[in-house]
Amino acid sequence: NDQINLIKEHLKSYKDFPKQGVVFQDIFSVLQNPKIANVLYDVLLNKAKSIKPPVECIAGVDSRGFLFGSVLARELEIPFIPIRKKGKLPGSTKSVHYKLEYKEDDLEMQEGVVREGQKVLVVDDLLATGGSLSAACELLSQAKADVQCLVVIELSELQGRKIINVPIHSLIVC
Ligand code: 5GP
Repeated sequence: NDQINLIKEHLKSYKDFPKQGVVFQDIFSVLQNPKIANVLYDVLLNKAKSIKPPVECIAGVDSRGFLFGSVLARELEIPFIPIRKKGKLPGSTKSVHYKLEYKEDDLEMQEGVVREGQKVLVVDDLLATGGSLSAACELLSQAKADVQCLVVIELSELQGRKIINVPIHSLIVC
């Protein structure tokens, strides 16, 4: 918990970004301090290692999920797959349409990147309303993967976990 508090102390937040009424948690502020960044990576790795059954593949959500997800995939020596905004991935893809508070978008995943029953951990920096993460989970569930999620920060007030029907692990709840 000392580690979590240390990370929290280095997390900068910005009022009214990107729009009025939103308090934006800037995870990149933590990475500016290499010692604190390492603490974050350690906590994240320990959390991922504690997940049962063991994780076999990391899926990173565009774009900060790539950052934390690929660090985890490297440490765990398992595959990393990207879940991206539409039109970014080459080859055959599957897509899911999702709605956020003020916008709509599509998330895509390449076909054939996960196998049925594979234990996939979806990684993103932050869980807010849950729209992004639930769309990512939907893509993986359609591919019949066995899905769990890991986020660095969960904004509990927005109750994002309510719309996601797989286990969610979060490091920092605020
Ligand atoms: P949701 O789909 O849960 O409403 O929003 C989560 C997505 O929006 C994540 O991909 C996350 O990167 C981004 N996001 C929303 N609010 C914040 C925030 O305060 N800080 C950061 N770093 N990302 C946010």
